[in-house]
Amino acid sequence: MDDPLKRLLTRWELQPPRFDAYDFRRPQAEFLYQLIDAGVLVPSTPVGTWDCADCGSVCRLIYVDQPGGGQHSFAACPRCGPMEVRSENLKRYEIDSQRLLESIFHSYRLSIERLNPIGLWRVGRHNIGERSREVYFSRGSDGGLMSTVCDVLGSHGKSCVFTPTRGSALKLSEELNCVVLGLEDVLDWAGNGFQLDDDAINGRFDSLENVPKPAKPKPKRSTRAAAIEALRRELNAHIVAAADHAFDTEARTGTPVLLPKPTQAELAARINVSAPTLSRCMEDRSAPELRILWDAADDVYEVLKWRKLAVKNSG
Ligand SMILES: [Zn+2]
Repeated sequence: MDDPLKRLLTRWELQPPRFDAYDFRRPQAEFLYQLIDAGVLVPSTPVGTWDCADCGSVCRLIYVDQPGGGQHSFAACPRCGPMEVRSENLKRYEIDSQRLLESIFHSYRLSIERLNPIGLWRVGRHNIGERSREVYFSRGSDGGLMSTVCDVLGSHGKSCVFTPTRGSALKLSEELNCVVLGLEDVLDWAGNGFQLDDDAINGRFDSLENVPKPAKPKPKRSTRAAAIEALRRELNAHIVAAADHAFDTEARTGTPVLLPKPTQAELAARINVSAPTLSRCMEDRSAPELRILWDAADDVYEVLKWRKLAVKNSG
């Protein structure tokens, strides 16, 4: 799977966390351009050498000033001679970690502070798992950094630590007492901004920290399957209501009128889940009918077509 968000998070583990022209040729380049607009990706040092497309030699780059201003770039191949390289192919962008943390954790009380030149930040505070917690972020957890992270966080058992990927979260959680979460498991890109799945984050603390307290009844948390079932009932009920409305208006005026469908935010509120959870349910591969019903609700004739089935499934 080549999910652009996952690619961003994986790249964030590397030093430097950089994207080059090759990344921008892929279909998901649009996501990267949005991140440039958001100031999350910033121009980095351009490529220093160039591989000759003909013979594969590593070429030195030469910049030649143009009479009217601007520069042309040439790769000086020792075998094939100089060839021009378009300057956009030399551009590179680097993740501004501070800016990306601000964008991801915008709903937290931020006090971002870099605790280590490369890989450890204090992010701020947030209510997670029924208490206010210090939130930290660590990336690129290699051996050297790992010991720094353990020194700083070793005594912070109630903190919440985020890493970009699940792999580094697992590695770090073996060394630390606090809960470590991979952003790839709890982060969505909503088209215009990042969204953290608070249900999933809180859920991780429920399962870990509430274990020694069996006397206290755990709040019933709706699982993905239960949410999908509730959503299926809501959508079917809407189709039935919309079909009734269509029949009724057709009988009275001769033209069936479409009943407006609820927004995804309204649906989320009705079945008592967060917006990211709702959109995960909508995209769940095990429940393709949710998308069919959601799309059907936009067309009065589709609504009529689905009514019979919806009656059966809305109970
Ligand atoms: Zn060559």
